Amino acid sequence: MSKKDYYEVLGVSKDASDKEIKRAYRKLAKKYHPDVSDDPQAEEKFKEVSEAYKVLSDENLRARYDQYGHAGVDQEGFGGGGFGQGSFEGFEDIFDMFFGGQGRRGQRRNRPRKGSDLRYNMTIDFEEAAFGVEKEIKIPRTEECDKCNGSGAKAGSDVESCAKCDGTGQVQYRQQTPFGQFVQTKTCDRCQGDGQFIKDPCPECNGKGKVRRRSSLTVNIPAGVEDGSRLRVAGEGEAGERGGPAGDLYVVIRVKDHEIFERQGNDIICEVPINIVQATLGDEIKVPTLDGKVKFKIPEGTQPGNSFRLRNKGIPYLKGSGRGDQHIKVKVVIPENLNEEQKELMKKFAEISGEEINPEKEGFFDKVKSAFGM
Ligand SMILES: [Zn+2]
Ligand SMILES: [Zn+2]
Repeated sequence: MSKKDYYEVLGVSKDASDKEIKRAYRKLAKKYHPDVSDDPQAEEKFKEVSEAYKVLSDENLRARYDQYGHAGVDQEGFGGGGFGQGSFEGFEDIFDMFFGGQGRRGQRRNRPRKGSDLRYNMTIDFEEAAFGVEKEIKIPRTEECDKCNGSGAKAGSDVESCAKCDGTGQVQYRQQTPFGQFVQTKTCDRCQGDGQFIKDPCPECNGKGKVRRRSSLTVNIPAGVEDGSRLRVAGEGEAGERGGPAGDLYVVIRVKDHEIFERQGNDIICEVPINIVQATLGDEIKVPTLDGKVKFKIPEGTQPGNSFRLRNKGIPYLKGSGRGDQHIKVKVVIPENLNEEQKELMKKFAEISGEEINPEKEGFFDKVKSAFGM
């Protein structure tokens, strides 16, 4: 396959200046751009023109072309399979091109980045979870250096902007391709993407702009938190990079068990022991609640396991207002080791009561009969 002479393609003389070459290329590129040209050969010609320009606009490539012809630049990817196939480094370059040079590479380094999140495990009491609490905690973390305000430079001394990238940390490379010019952004190799050099580093942080320390922090635990809740404290994590915001702190709450209360959602269950006399005759007793002891009337004929509800004595709702309820679960304690007098009275009670002593007895044996045919 014989290729056309690049100078011919652009319609310029062998000693054309850079300016002339550029002008010729622009004119032809416009004429043959596949988007605007009606010429069925437009795409082919556009490629030809771009390829010629790519070589002739580059001082080194042009010199090699002048000396060796096409063979001198073929290894640049212009030979063999033809221009356009071997000339890209990889997919990312094409990606960069289509997105106007705002490449995915290069950008990353210099961009401000949010600091890492931190986790803190906190154990609190049952009551603290119910009503909320303010806790002071100490967390080891990286913070912006106070002395240099995170700049890393010694107070008063300057930070020198990188001359190669103008302090941006990125360098743009322009390239001609068959599809037009594209700009690729890469991390500046002189400053490693920092965009600056510190002339005199801050002695406090050794020029890092950040220091590691244990910081005290007051955390407000809201009323109603549950065991295992995760509380986000915004901006109290590790310091950010390059002026980015600090990460968040997540406080993971562990709630200790209570001796007499058990939590179920926003309700509280509390088992209260009473004796058989109280259960039988009823009584006014004092029951513990989160707000202290309250009077409660046990009704006559209370059965073991009966449950009573104390409204609004439970756990406050985390979101919104109001509280859950407290459930009093009655545990009837059967007396043991009665003395003779007590036993006599019990027997007498049974005698007087006769069959009535177990009002459910008949119902129960009726069920036994029907179940076992007895
Ligand atoms: Zn510092
Ligand atoms: Zn630089």
